[in-house]
Amino acid sequence: MSVISLVSYEDALASYDPVMGLEVHVELGTRTKMFCGCSTELGAEPNTQTCPTCLGLPGSLPVVNAVGVESAIRIGLALNCEIAEWCRFARKNYFYPDMPKNFQTSQYDEPIAFNGYLDVQLEDGEVFRVEIERAHMEEDTGKSTHVGGATGRIHGAEYSLLDYNRAGIPLIEIVTKPIVGAGARAPEVAKAYVTELRELIRTLGVSEARMDKGQMRCDVNLSLRPIGREKFGTRSETKNVNSLRSVERAARFEVQRHATVLADGGTIVQETRHFHEEDGSTTSGRIKEEAEDYRYFPEPDLVPIAPSREWVEELRAALPELPRVRRGRLQAEWGLSDKDMQAVLNAGAVEPILETVAAGAPADQARKWWLGELARRANETGTELADQPITPAQVARVCALVAEGKLNDKLARQVIEGVLAGEGEPDEVVAGRGLAVVSDDSALGAAVDQAIADNPDVAAKIRDGKVQAVGALVGAVMKATRGQADAARAKDLILERLGA
Ligand code: ADP
Ligand code: MG
Ligand code: ZN
Repeated sequence: MSVISLVSYEDALASYDPVMGLEVHVELGTRTKMFCGCSTELGAEPNTQTCPTCLGLPGSLPVVNAVGVESAIRIGLALNCEIAEWCRFARKNYFYPDMPKNFQTSQYDEPIAFNGYLDVQLEDGEVFRVEIERAHMEEDTGKSTHVGGATGRIHGAEYSLLDYNRAGIPLIEIVTKPIVGAGARAPEVAKAYVTELRELIRTLGVSEARMDKGQMRCDVNLSLRPIGREKFGTRSETKNVNSLRSVERAARFEVQRHATVLADGGTIVQETRHFHEEDGSTTSGRIKEEAEDYRYFPEPDLVPIAPSREWVEELRAALPELPRVRRGRLQAEWGLSDKDMQAVLNAGAVEPILETVAAGAPADQARKWWLGELARRANETGTELADQPITPAQVARVCALVAEGKLNDKLARQVIEGVLAGEGEPDEVVAGRGLAVVSDDSALGAAVDQAIADNPDVAAKIRDGKVQAVGALVGAVMKATRGQADAARAKDLILERLGA
């Protein structure tokens, strides 16, 4: 389908109400796999981290990873879920070469955590509650590499390679209830939800949740219903979307695509779809199986999981400060209004500011530079604030030079520019560019005398007591010294010379 023929987003929203469902898979950072002792270390030679159990050889038996269960419970608690008193694993049966057991060990109607919610904050500060259906434990599949075709997909490939190192790595799948009521903001809610979830997972320390490394992946389910209608439309499921921005784009594209199909009098088929980074479009994958196609049944080789209430309460009490609470605390500590805090959040500046403060800068100064110069540059270059080629320690050093009176703001800006341009540490840029503030009285004195001589009318006014006119002379001094004068010292000298 060509992008040009799509109904516009605004037109789609004028007739339809989007309903979304997000399924997020998180690879846990446990040392060993979910049902065997094989290492989960990334980057090893293919098929060196396997054993009879994760290869599904006859007679092998799984043993559950206790840290995996504990992590699942902690995620469930952080998502305000109920924790099952008793639950089981189930076999989800299907054949695929990357899954040598011919079934995935998963959970079906008895997830370990269910009925929760996660509050997410949108760009304008509004809080949207996303309800969680369940969080369940399962295992990852191996990895296929299709060689020889143009697309890297199996179609058109000459042969395929299989690496089972990933087979059996613990996954937690977190599934939302249908998200309704977001209207035109559905794509923004999707992005905000995955962002918040990623932060939560990292705060819990259960996974690095790097989307670019596949440690966190999101399936975006989306359907449209005519405005005012109760019944949901048929959904599409865009699989394995692997960046925050892509989650938003995929949702947006599907809104437009569904609206286009419906406007033509067509019907949406329930299918999986692939997302394409290049143009933000999706294309058809496979027709969606129904749950009964998988012939789920309780896993006979694993004992049920019955976490004691004491253990669950211990885990709850030991949860770290969660991201929303932490943000509230920082806002209070920094004395920021909701609007200023929102600006910090939208810029991705919380961690850079904290690290700059840890390196010795006052919070308001740290915030000023990260939200000013550096955020502007990140914006212009379309990069993350934290990825700018300047470290929090370097920003802290610039703040210290300003506090010591060795730089004024204008010079500090040039120092930051120099660091970003690869000219070295702040002190090296100061030396290299000759940027130190001119505050010794002899050098400054000459500039002051010149400014007075060049502006006799202004000087006369000041002599007559109109002290506020001094700004014009300070300006002249700053200009003459190319911004390097210590403005406060220049002002004192001028007033002294003019006897005011
Ligand atoms: P499956 O395994 O078939 O993908 P799940 O129940 O695991 O099914 O996930 C489906 C997701 O889609 C859930 O988040 C659910 O809330 C959501 N969902 C269900 N029906 C619809 C619909 N009609 N439109 C949008 N989302 C839906
Ligand atoms: Mg699904
Ligand atoms: Zn193994």
